[in-house]
Amino acid sequence: MQNHETVTVTKASLPELSEYEELIEKLWENRWLTNMGMYHEELKRQLKDYLSVGGIELFVNGHMALEMVLKAFELKGEVITTPFTFASTTHAIVRNGLKPVFCDIKLDDCTIDADRIERLITKDTCAIVPVHVYGNICDFEKIEAIADAYGLKVIYDAAHAFGEKVGERGVGTLGDASMFSFHATKVFNTIEGGAVTWKNAEDKELSDKLYKLKNFGITGKEAVEYVGGNAKMNEFCAAMGICNLRHVDEWIKRRKAVNDRYARNLSHTEGISFLKPREDASRNYAYMPVLFDGVRFKRNEIYEKLLSENIYSRKYFYPCVNAYDCYRDSYDPHDTETALSISERILTLPIYPELSAEDVDRICEIITG
Ligand SMILES: *Cc1c(COP(=O)(O)O)cnc(C)c1O
Repeated sequence: MQNHETVTVTKASLPELSEYEELIEKLWENRWLTNMGMYHEELKRQLKDYLSVGGIELFVNGHMALEMVLKAFELKGEVITTPFTFASTTHAIVRNGLKPVFCDIKLDDCTIDADRIERLITKDTCAIVPVHVYGNICDFEKIEAIADAYGLKVIYDAAHAFGEKVGERGVGTLGDASMFSFHATKVFNTIEGGAVTWKNAEDKELSDKLYKLKNFGITGKEAVEYVGGNAKMNEFCAAMGICNLRHVDEWIKRRKAVNDRYARNLSHTEGISFLKPREDASRNYAYMPVLFDGVRFKRNEIYEKLLSENIYSRKYFYPCVNAYDCYRDSYDPHDTETALSISERILTLPIYPELSAEDVDRICEIITG
């Protein structure tokens, strides 16, 4: 038996060390380490272009970006969102003093089921926070129509959707605003980092507010206008982003090759299925979610079987947010049956640019064998 190395579910992407050194060396000269320095400004320009958005503000991480954009819209009341997401989405809503109302998801792509949103709207509803989960773009046309009819804000959690487009349109232009995460585990990283983006380049009010929110509400040398917090991206993170942005297209290409190999190996196996993202949207292959039928293939058994071979997959997302200890007194996960069922049958398999074809084949053999 050949000895195999541990395979993790993801691996942070990095530039060559020399490439990063070349940039950060300058920080020893100018001693400007944070507070909207030159790399912060440069990354902001480059990302605005890369993401094809009208406006962008950078943050210390994706979570604070989401908390602050919700705050910027001065929302009150209930927010319709999905329970099939990372803790951050719901926590950001609750930490703004808002009440999450969970809407079930679609079986085919795991995004919020827009056909079930309207029945959850009450006189207190102020916004919808959908998630482009696994980079699968939501049914934004329907969501927009509902939001328009009821006067609701739409803020997308686009943490998984870096660089994706619908037609020619950057996903970060959908709704009133979108949040991206640049965490180490994401397709594009700044070590830790995040951004809020929006469509209208003229929307100075939103950029102004976000800027104040992330920098203590300081507006001048002797003026503090606003009760803000601290959520700025520092220069070391911004420099990492500038380096990584040079390589991200290549990384996405390699992720696609990994994705396609899994699909080729597993798509004809009864009891195993893949999600179906919108065909009019590009993909970044951030995750490799696989759905098991629970009969021929049991998710927890597959997870353990892989683990016994030192292969780390992830029950992503399990449990659903409405089943968390901190939320379950107020919610019943059975109210969102599809999300509950998928959370018990889904597994995200290892995927990162350097994952070899041999490893993918071996993982598939362990699953089906
Ligand atoms: C990663 C992630 C976040 C939070 O981003 P951080 O940069 O880690 O703060 C929010 N929502 C989803 C769906 C995520 O995957």
